[in-house]
Order: sequence, then structure tokens, then C-alpha cells
Amino acid sequence: MTTDSPHVDQQIPAAPAQVDVAISVRGLRKTYGAHVAVASLDLDIVRGEIFALLGPNGAGKTTTVEILEGYRRRDAGEVNVLGVDPAKADARWKSRIGIVLQSKGGDSELTVAETVRVQAAYFADPRPVEEVIGLVGLTDKLKARASSLSGGQQRRLDVALGIVGRPRLLFLDEPTTGFDPEARRQFWELIRQLRELGTTMLLTTHYLDEAEALADRVGVIAAGTLVEVGIPAELGGRHLAPARVHWVEDGQRREQTTATPTAVVHALSQRLGGEIPELAVQRPSLEDIYLQMIGQPA
Ligand code: ATP
Repeated sequence: MTTDSPHVDQQIPAAPAQVDVAISVRGLRKTYGAHVAVASLDLDIVRGEIFALLGPNGAGKTTTVEILEGYRRRDAGEVNVLGVDPAKADARWKSRIGIVLQSKGGDSELTVAETVRVQAAYFADPRPVEEVIGLVGLTDKLKARASSLSGGQQRRLDVALGIVGRPRLLFLDEPTTGFDPEARRQFWELIRQLRELGTTMLLTTHYLDEAEALADRVGVIAAGTLVEVGIPAELGGRHLAPARVHWVEDGQRREQTTATPTAVVHALSQRLGGEIPELAVQRPSLEDIYLQMIGQPA
């Protein structure tokens, strides 16, 4: 491990080109006995971005994120989060980090407003309680008991607790697990609003569509190794992969795999005299590419 940075906001001295880096990881390693959970992982997350960490169960996501949050010790490697080594971070650093863990469940007898107020008291300059509750869309539940909220509403309350301290960096662990489709869309809007407010976010998710909808960049982790990092549209060379053109001709379903789908469609249109019945052009989905990366058949 390296020596700690003496000041909370000090940038990474060894990487002057990375002045906008919120998280920098080099050679991170964590073992549990003989089991290597994270093997030599390198990662940079830029300030202001939403970064999604994808990976199958047991890939090492939680281990990595908990090391970044300062909750787990590492065996080797350099880790710098908001200018500080999380293993040696102080209360001031912790106040700049927001964490939304997998749902805590709501057995509290406190109301929504009281729950947020209690959390706000831990911070020197919290967001006003009603503002936070408005941000997460729970204004009409201000006086409801936290235990009476639906699963999706409880998750919103979890986020309210994560952001009340005005974190510069927010960790979200599988934030929308168990949400209905509408609640997920609303939650995504909230995450985008937080990005507009300048919050950097690292989220783990098993939902490929969530990563695609929200993330500026995606990292795929498998067996403790970061297999690839990229923008969702280009992950795994997805944008360069051959396209499949489907259509119906003479009552038969036809398919052609091509690197030049526009030319194929143009030629088809000419041959068929205009409209091409049931035309569809498909490239591999993020899910197809992801399953290839983690070694599963699509
Ligand atoms: P999931 O998607 O299921 O949450 P994950 O990618 O977050 O998985 P981790 O929780 O980081 O995976 O686990 C990585 C590996 O390390 C797994 O094989 C897990 O069994 C193992 N592991 C995690 N925590 C411990 C621990 N405290 N003691 C021993 N092994 C552990």
C-alpha cells in the first residue's frame, strides 16, 4: 500500500493528467484465504460521471466497492478516493461519501422526515430535509412511517439518507432491485438529477438496461478481474460488430449478417420495389456482449 495523502482534497500526485479523477485504483488485490476475490484490478472513475460495475454473482463487485468505501481492508494495491486512501480516511472524508447499500428494510417507527433529519444531524452542512425528500419524490410521504413505505419508496428513502450530506461521490449497490418498471424509470430520473447536481456515482447492478440507460461508462468484472471498461454503446466492440438484417421475402423469413447493413437495406429496397416487409436491423445487445465477456452463452 502507498502512504496516505495528508489533505482531504489532494489530487493523486503520480497522475497529474488525472486531475478530474474521483476514484483511482491500481493493482487492487483481495483474498479470502486461498480464494482470490479481486486480482490486480485497475480502475479510474472521473468526477461527475456515472460508472456502472457489472458482473455475475461472486465476481468481486461488493468486495471492490467496500474497499473503496473504506469498509474492507485490501491485501495489495493503491486506492485513492477523492484524494485519500480509504483505508486511512477520517470523518471529514467520510462526510463527502454517500453510500446506498442493498435495501435495509424499513422497520423504523420514525416518519420519513424524522429518519432523514436524524441522518442530517451527522453532517456539518446537510441538504435541507424537505429538499432531500422532494429530490427523491417522497414529499407526499413526509409524515408516513418509514416502515409503511413500499419497497420502491423505501429505496428512495435509502437514497435520501445517502445524499442528505451533499456527498461528492455516491455509491449505489443494486439500487433498483425489486422495483416495478415505472419505479425504476423514476429512480433513473433521480440518478440523472443527481448527476446534474455534480455528484459522481458508482453503481453496481445486474440490470443491463439500467447500465445502458444511466452509465457514462461501464466496467465488467468477472472472477475478480476487470474484463473491460467502455461506454455502453461501444463495450466489447459492440458498435463494430456485424449487424443482422431480417426481412420477409416471397413469404419466407430471411436473414443476412453484414458489416454494411445500410447497403444491404438499400439493395433490398431496390429489389423489392420500395417497402421491405418486416425489416429489422439488429446489433448485439449489451446483454449479448456482456454474456460473451463473462463466458456465458447468449
Ligand atoms: P454479488 O453480485 O452476488 O453481490 P459480488 O460480485 O459482489 O457478487 P463479492 O461479494 O465481492 O461478489 O464476492 C467475491 C468473492 O469473494 C465470492 O466468491 C465470495 O464468496 C467471496 N467472499 C466475499 N466476502 C467474503 C468473506 N467475508 N469471506 C470469504 N469469502 C468472501
